[in-house]
Amino acid sequence: MSARRLALVAHDRKKEAMVAFAERHRETLRKFDLVATGTTGGQIIARCPDLTVTRLKSGPLGGDQQIGALIAEGKVDGLFFFVDPLSPHPHDVDVKALMRLALVYDIPMALNPATAGLMIDRLASSEPGSPA
Ligand code: PGA
Repeated sequence: MSARRLALVAHDRKKEAMVAFAERHRETLRKFDLVATGTTGGQIIARCPDLTVTRLKSGPLGGDQQIGALIAEGKVDGLFFFVDPLSPHPHDVDVKALMRLALVYDIPMALNPATAGLMIDRLASSEPGSPA
């Protein structure tokens, strides 16, 4: 069975929450093929050097769209996108586009740590591409 691919993205004020989540669930996250936007991925690797994370471009420079393209190609099994609802984002159109593609392709998507915590074990034990 090939590894499920999990995409990780966190807005700036949610990056600490994402890194803390990665630390808390590092054993489970090791089972995934992890991809992340550039800065999010860099911070996860810095605190969890045992995790292998493919870093894409930074979100505002196209990283969100790269993850969207992976979703469109059927190459993402889950998206954890920790969104900051209290700050404006210059790449808001990309943020919306990424969420939209996750909805179009019915990808399990967690927008906050509470939901990601409920999802992660289930995702880790499911077949890639299997329905929820
Ligand atoms: P970043 O991108 O991980 O490169 O900061 C996340 C985002 O879309 O804001």
